[in-house]
Amino acid sequence: MFEGGKFIWRNGEFLKWEDATTHVLSHTLHYGVGVFEGIRCYETDEGPAVFRLKEHVKRLFESAKIFMMEIPFTEEEINNAILDTVKKNELKSCYIRPIVYYGYKSLGLAVSNDFPVDTVIAAWSWGAYLGEEGISNGIKVKTSSFNRFHVNTIATRAKACGNYITSVLAKREALMSGYDEALFLDPDGYVAEGSGENIFIIKDGVVYTPPVTSILKGITRDSIITIARDLGYEVIERRFTRDEMYIADEAFFTGTAAEVTPIRELDGRPIGIGRRGKITEKIQSTFFEIVKGKNKKYSNWLAFVK
Ligand code: PMP
Repeated sequence: MFEGGKFIWRNGEFLKWEDATTHVLSHTLHYGVGVFEGIRCYETDEGPAVFRLKEHVKRLFESAKIFMMEIPFTEEEINNAILDTVKKNELKSCYIRPIVYYGYKSLGLAVSNDFPVDTVIAAWSWGAYLGEEGISNGIKVKTSSFNRFHVNTIATRAKACGNYITSVLAKREALMSGYDEALFLDPDGYVAEGSGENIFIIKDGVVYTPPVTSILKGITRDSIITIARDLGYEVIERRFTRDEMYIADEAFFTGTAAEVTPIRELDGRPIGIGRRGKITEKIQSTFFEIVKGKNKKYSNWLAFVK
């Protein structure tokens, strides 16, 4: 883990990786009020390129707004700091983790605008999150015994640190039961998303994905909706049930870490042919062409590290 990471950007300056520490009484460590992003940078013929940088940084600022955290930088400054971090670490392709958290002041729950806010950006090499084998052959998924949040339990539009405690529980439960990933249902029992991925199913040539209520509004999800429509598929955002998913022709997860990972089995039922389906493969290969700079139609989705 953390291969290739040498310097971490914090509050406008680079620190050596090992010096990027924080106090154990930092507020966010105790209560989870912090916001972050997961971004990927891919190797292209024109050098490293960050995928949908602006959209990720915008979501970071929106997450902060929800929690009334003030990031003491502009979006443009963070965009540039991210590109600088990739460059400084001399990474060709990497995973990038910006995080904004409350530092050391007091541990009461009443945070205010005079709380210290730290802004940090790290980057390191990270391969396929659900494995190369998962990318080509698909993964085994289990419906979690934990539910996704009710919309008034947690701010689902925010990519916030504390939101992930249920994801960690669900992921662990899935792995302990011999599966690769968990599937969350929403509080009404409809399919929501994975522990760190959005979900799509395909039935009779139509692509379905749950609406943005109890789920994170994924940037890969948005990219896949665009790609699938451009490839001529109808994409419908609507709720569906787990049994509808059992009888789907194809299914896949999307996410910055997970990229486009086919689902070959849910709760012991093979999905479709029990491996990556044809439409999934088409969408997935288009996605990989785009991120690697080989499809010029979507070049505005790439920010090159100069
Ligand atoms: N849902 C959750 C819970 C996630 O953590 C992620 C990863 N950020 C996603 C969906 C996918 O979002 P994105 O495509 O923006 O990475």
